[in-house]
Amino acid sequence: MDHEIYETDIYDKTRIRHISILCDCEHPEHQFILSYFVGDKTEMFMDIHLADRGFWLGLIYAIKYIFGYRSRYGAFDEIILNADTVHILKNFVFEFMNQPTTSNTGADACKQCLGWKRVANSDDMESWKYWDELPDQSKIVVKMGLIKPIECPRCGGTGREND
Ligand SMILES: [Zn+2]
Ligand SMILES: [Zn+2]
Repeated sequence: MDHEIYETDIYDKTRIRHISILCDCEHPEHQFILSYFVGDKTEMFMDIHLADRGFWLGLIYAIKYIFGYRSRYGAFDEIILNADTVHILKNFVFEFMNQPTTSNTGADACKQCLGWKRVANSDDMESWKYWDELPDQSKIVVKMGLIKPIECPRCGGTGREND
C-alpha cells in the first residue's frame, strides 16, 4: 500500500507538502490527503475523497434523508488505517510540527503580524508570534480553540508591508 508524499507550489514560491493516505481496504475512493504550507505551522488541511454514488443512488439517498432514514451516525464514510499507516501519518504530522517557520524577518516585515503572516482572532489581532512563543502550559485557550490564527488582514498573509 503506497501512501504518496509529494509537493506542489503556488505562485512559484509557496510550497505545499501533501501526503495521500489510502484505506486498508484498498478501495481507490477511500482516501484522504493531508497538506500543509511549508514553513507554516499554523494549520493543516485534510481533503477527504467523497465517494461518487452516481445520480440515481444519490437521489435515493436524498429521498431517504428527507424522510428521516438516516444512519444513527449520519453520513460518515470510514477509512481504516493499519499500524504502519498510522506510523507514516505520525511522521508526517511530526515533520509539520518540527519544521522551521518561514516568517519574514526582513526590514519590510508587516507591522501587524511582524512577518508571521498570521494574527490571532482576538480583538487586538496581534501577531501569532506572541501565541506561538508562549510556553505550552499557557496555550490552553489555543488548545480549546478560543484563540486561533487567521490570515493577517494587513498584508494578506504575505508577511510584507505592501506599498
Ligand atoms: Zn476502505
Ligand atoms: Zn501581516
